[in-house]
Amino acid sequence: MEEVVLKKLRELIGWDSGDGIFCPGGSLSNIYAMNVARYQRFPDSKRTGIWALPRLAVFTSQESHYSVQKGAAFLGIGTDNIYLVSVDERGKMIPADLERQINKAKSEGACPFFVNATCGTTVLGAFDPLVDVADVCKRHGAWLHVDAAWGGSALVSRKHRHLLDGIERVDSVAWNPHKMLMTGLQCSAFLLRDSSGLLQRCYCANATYLFQTDKFYDMAYDTGDKTVQCGRKVDCLKLWLMWKANGTEGLEKRVDRAFEFTRYLADAMKGREGFLLVTEPEFINLCFWFVPASLRGKQGCADYWERLGKVAPAIKERMMKKGSMMVGYQPLGSRVNFFRQVVTNPMVTKQDLDFFLDEIERLGKDL
Ligand SMILES: *Cc1c(COP(=O)(O)O)cnc(C)c1O
Repeated sequence: MEEVVLKKLRELIGWDSGDGIFCPGGSLSNIYAMNVARYQRFPDSKRTGIWALPRLAVFTSQESHYSVQKGAAFLGIGTDNIYLVSVDERGKMIPADLERQINKAKSEGACPFFVNATCGTTVLGAFDPLVDVADVCKRHGAWLHVDAAWGGSALVSRKHRHLLDGIERVDSVAWNPHKMLMTGLQCSAFLLRDSSGLLQRCYCANATYLFQTDKFYDMAYDTGDKTVQCGRKVDCLKLWLMWKANGTEGLEKRVDRAFEFTRYLADAMKGREGFLLVTEPEFINLCFWFVPASLRGKQGCADYWERLGKVAPAIKERMMKKGSMMVGYQPLGSRVNFFRQVVTNPMVTKQDLDFFLDEIERLGKDL
């Protein structure tokens, strides 16, 4: 079952062969990728450890997921050896800056072995330009991993899969069906283009009490040694059942609907006073400020942004105490606190979205 589901996911990426394993979450999938990339470049390191290696350098955008930091710390690479690549105003990695950072690392004597691109950044929902990033990686011989934990599910939609153009060229992908497709937690796939058994060689310990080589059946079904775990949950079952029940077209409808509802909400905000988009949504993250009447038209005031930054936490406190809604907020770079609304649940209606806007207006009216 795991084989069948992983194969279907790889087909959506555009690979007719490859490998993969279900991992306990996207963070772990990203960490698996970093370790496989290191093993591929330095196979002896599995035995000799990090002592025999040059200083390894990791590249990821400023807006990528924090699990890249955790991975570098966990694997002994060190967070100081992460080079943060600049993003444009929509949150996308700038390929020219990636190349600059790689050259910088080389000139400092480091070995640039791993680039993490993001498809669907956690806050803005930005997609890094994979074609250009893949060109840079190819020039420098670096492993290209895509953290598509959040945005990977757009591949199911014929209308929106272009956001991930170039994904067939990358070396590995992390994709969480437990996010946009709403498979029950946890369900995260780590997928590789390699079909030479790299994953197995990287992780295997060949425990003789489990992975006997003289079994009567095809030992390729013993996928357990492709992970760092021993016991493992059957995460593929949830996705298999959901896919069987809805069909690929049913899942595609869900994805398309999420995009459509995000568009609806963005347009509705433009029609109301007080809602200000942080950026036009590219995906289904709708990031916005609510500007209360007391602040409208006061952009010129010195303390405008400072005061606006206090609005989202105040509204959030009110909605939680009242028990009416839950919406996340965060600052990002130089942008003060803004709300981030994500609509994935297929049960949500347009009336719910209207309520959402009305409720924010109600809660923030007197601020
Ligand atoms: C959510 C997310 C992750 C982490 O996934 P978990 O399953 O929560 O570990 C990684 N990357 C991105 C871009 C995410 O949005």
